[in-house]
Amino acid sequence: MSNIIAIVGRPNVGKSTLFNRMTESRKAIVDESAGVTRDRQYGKGVWNGIEFSIIDTGGYAVNSEDIFEGEIRKQVMLAIEEADAILFVVDVENGVTDMDEEVAAVLRRSKKNVFIAVNKVDNNARIIDSHEFYSLGLGELYCISSMTGSGTGELLDAIVDTFPKDEPEEIEENVPRFAIIGRPNVGKSSFINALIGVDRNMVTDIAGTTRDAIHTRYNQFGHDFYLIDTAGLRKRTKVKEDVEFYSTMRSIRAIEDSDVCILIIDATRGMEAQDVSIFHLIDRNKKGLVILVNKWDLIEKDNASTNKFTKQIKERIAPFVDVPIMFISALTKQRILKALETAVEVFENRSKKIKTSELNEVMLKAIEDYPPPSIKGKFVKIKYVTQLPSQTPSFAFFANLPQYVKEAYRRYLENKIRENFNFSGVPIQIYIRKK
Ligand code: GDP
Ligand code: GDP
Repeated sequence: MSNIIAIVGRPNVGKSTLFNRMTESRKAIVDESAGVTRDRQYGKGVWNGIEFSIIDTGGYAVNSEDIFEGEIRKQVMLAIEEADAILFVVDVENGVTDMDEEVAAVLRRSKKNVFIAVNKVDNNARIIDSHEFYSLGLGELYCISSMTGSGTGELLDAIVDTFPKDEPEEIEENVPRFAIIGRPNVGKSSFINALIGVDRNMVTDIAGTTRDAIHTRYNQFGHDFYLIDTAGLRKRTKVKEDVEFYSTMRSIRAIEDSDVCILIIDATRGMEAQDVSIFHLIDRNKKGLVILVNKWDLIEKDNASTNKFTKQIKERIAPFVDVPIMFISALTKQRILKALETAVEVFENRSKKIKTSELNEVMLKAIEDYPPPSIKGKFVKIKYVTQLPSQTPSFAFFANLPQYVKEAYRRYLENKIRENFNFSGVPIQIYIRKK
């Protein structure tokens, strides 16, 4: 289960500086693999061995002055609904502002764990100044300097301490967990109804766990699986706006709790920026992926239609393009079963282990055919490859000079793995290690 921390607060208090610091420890691990880009709003961290996701709600702030306050208020409400802990950042240089008081009033009414970080406490003199923030009525203050990192350790200790410890998993590990993801109105509910509505065959319903994610177990068309339904979550909420921030934030928990994400896009709109940002969340979490282009019944089709759509989608999601893309109609139930079968196949691909002997046979040949280019007269030799015993497919190539293996060559290695072994729909990690 995921632990989500949301950072809230006025502009310029240092939220993104803090965000960068909190996601740093994890970055070192993540960046070892190729092509990882970090976005400003969403990152992963680990503290005392406990992993968490962190969302900087300020990254989504709008620019127009007059709707600013309302926007921050909404972001705070949403953070309360969706996160496990709220980190409210204030600025000791400015002291308590009206907007701080407003945010504090909303937070005081929530039942969530709220932590107030007084930022820019770069020296001891400022500790005295920080005391005025007790007036916000949110309990203990954490004096920090996001710039130097001082105080952030104590803050993280306190936050992770509130996360549930070794929560007993109520779900069975070898049964795939599918998250149905997509912007509002793409047809998520309709798809779920098409899949299970007619002949509902519910085995267990684990709603009402403390964490709000809804895993429901089904046995349909001979397949046993859990569905994580974000559509249902959305409908229970108070905040209704169709804004990127809201659907992204809603999607995060479902994505994190899934094995395979079924990303639905609307054929009448194509793959839009918001769909792409949801795609990136899935990729960043190394989840399996199936893309369903829904409402295909509404499209005037010719022989080239599916190719045209496929090409457009792949351009947007590159370089990870080895993804099944299917054209469905939740309304007419066209290809619903095929979509489910494909998701099951992606789940199997994701847990696949390739024998080392088989892998070396194929990959050493591919390396021999097209060796890494020499750099500054030095020749890179890759001697051995093995799949790591990780949860998602990861491969370690052992080389004499790993630092000289560049991005383009990693890409070549990944493509060769994909050509020879079916990893459709599954992100792959490539590591080059010192022999
Ligand atoms: P955000 O708008 O809340 O995300 O704020 P930023 O992280 O962009 O920071 C706003 C400004 O405050 C930047 O100029 C930062 O360099 C500065 N800042 C952030 N943290 C600290 C800190 O701990 N001490 C000091 N002195 N400045 C800081
Ligand atoms: P959600 O917000 O993603 O759960 O989307 P809904 O399932 O509520 O669907 C939004 C709207 O699109 C509804 O009016 C549906 O009837 C319509 N819709 C969903 N799937 C299809 C489809 O395959 N074809 C057509 N023509 N309409 C659809």
